[in-house]
Amino acid sequence: MKKTALSLVAVLSLTGLVGCQTQTNDTLPVVATIEQDKAFTQFSAQFIDELWQTFPSWALYRGFHDYDGRLNIPSDVQRQHSLAFITHQQQALAQISPQSLSPNVRIDYSIIDNLLAKMKWEQETFKSWQWDPSRYNVAEGFALIINGDFASSDERLTSVLSRLAFIPDYYIGARESIQSPTLEHTQLAILQNEGALSVLSPRLLQEAMDSGLTVRQKQQFKARYTQGVSAIKQHVSWLKSLEKKLTTQGARSFRIGEALYEQKFAFDIKAGMTAKQLYQKALLDKDRVQAEMSVLTGQLWSKYFSTQKPTDDKIAIGRLINKLSVNHVKRDDFVSEIRQQIPELIHFVNEKNLITLDPNKPLIVRETPEYMQGFAGASVSAPGPYEKSANTYYNVTPLDSMSEASAESYLREYNHWILQILNIHEAIPGHYTQLVYANESPSLVKSLFGNGAMIEGWAVYAERMMLEQGYSDFEPEMWLMYYKWHLRVICNTLLDYSIQVQGMSEEEAINLMTKEAFQQIAEAEGKWRRATLSQVQLTSYYAGYRGIYDLREDVKSLEETQFDLKAFHERFLSYGSAPVSDIRQLMLLTH
Ligand code: ZN
Ligand code: ZN
Repeated sequence: MKKTALSLVAVLSLTGLVGCQTQTNDTLPVVATIEQDKAFTQFSAQFIDELWQTFPSWALYRGFHDYDGRLNIPSDVQRQHSLAFITHQQQALAQISPQSLSPNVRIDYSIIDNLLAKMKWEQETFKSWQWDPSRYNVAEGFALIINGDFASSDERLTSVLSRLAFIPDYYIGARESIQSPTLEHTQLAILQNEGALSVLSPRLLQEAMDSGLTVRQKQQFKARYTQGVSAIKQHVSWLKSLEKKLTTQGARSFRIGEALYEQKFAFDIKAGMTAKQLYQKALLDKDRVQAEMSVLTGQLWSKYFSTQKPTDDKIAIGRLINKLSVNHVKRDDFVSEIRQQIPELIHFVNEKNLITLDPNKPLIVRETPEYMQGFAGASVSAPGPYEKSANTYYNVTPLDSMSEASAESYLREYNHWILQILNIHEAIPGHYTQLVYANESPSLVKSLFGNGAMIEGWAVYAERMMLEQGYSDFEPEMWLMYYKWHLRVICNTLLDYSIQVQGMSEEEAINLMTKEAFQQIAEAEGKWRRATLSQVQLTSYYAGYRGIYDLREDVKSLEETQFDLKAFHERFLSYGSAPVSDIRQLMLLTH
């Protein structure tokens, strides 16, 4: 990375002197800041250690493998234990005064503070451990150990052996914990626990039998494997009878309502505004974007149709989008086309001076490894903080396994224009670029507990920023397609809030997506299902985007002619994956 203010911040914060960088309102001497920073750094290292000891599966998901052989049994005792942990950590955190911390460290403080409060709230108030049976599933942990490359096969099988012993008690505890669940989460639990059987497959047993484990270990493995598999099957059949009961006798609603929604939104997004305020912004943006799309459709209509444009604007927009979507790559060229686009994006970013890209960290485009090929698409997989040396990959799944019809529909969705926007979002200067910068921010706290809305928001912001800077030369077709893509982000927020808080029906939701946002019915049905199973997460894309865009406009009007887009981007990303509202405070502090 070029030596910019960014690396200066990194160096200074390592020595605890970053407080001198910005003029804060604090009058505390620098010495106090250094001491408080030190105290916090000690606290946070110990906090993470104890967190992983207390929650071994969480550690495993984050790539910390010391406790892979353990599995917590859900129970009242376990929950008491969690609460004691939270209280203990909150008391330790209260010994440090956030006002005297340097800015970057203060963000870490607020991230842990928020995390602990959220854990307490989830357990005591939200209580999804009671009503969401899909929380109980051993599949993911086992899959991570079995497919991982962090240790030798025999070492990993030894962890699997130890972990297998907990399965029967785990599901007994799950059944004791579940109370008045929703039908939707019960059905998801059935599906996912059935999936667990494909993780604990006969192939795994065979692998263990062929491994370097001792004879005695192999005997244990076989016995525990058999007990584990039958415990999963027993649990699935219990869930199925529960499903029947819920279907006939009625179940708790999956809608969490306004009070819980606002609380969850505050913890998860940290948007610096309420969910309701964000919802209202999204409503306005929807109208604005649709109006822009009408104008573009008017400009383009006669280029693509010899017939009269329909008087209903939304029908006209929908038809034009369908017509344009036919322009897409051949299915066999899908991966190679993406590979070719990356250097073009890099070239544009450099030419327009949008952000410094580190030439020493090139993005590696690869076909998605088989064990990750759950669904088609593209994703960035980055090494976690515990595996710093590994490469970052842009995984693209080839369309080989798709039927002719579904490949065609997929290619129309990711047509000539949308594919470019996808690459901006996932790769350059979206997720990939943000990740490179986040890794420069030397904070384990941020890389472990980073803010999802900031991460998604940056990628969504990057799409628009590139187009505003002239990527694709202001081609109206590109803008129209971009708006269609962006409308999905806006509608995700509208849907989530409307469904969870305002009781929107399935039919209304499908109408919103297909008629107002020009989505295909299959996509809309999938989104409805997702919106019944998760809460708040769907708002993170728009919340982060809106926060970053508004911050940029505010900094621009403060700095007037001094404003420099590249400097703004680099400063913004230098804080790591922190909540946008926290970054906003720090960036506006210096003005
Ligand atoms: Zn086609
Ligand atoms: Zn994304």
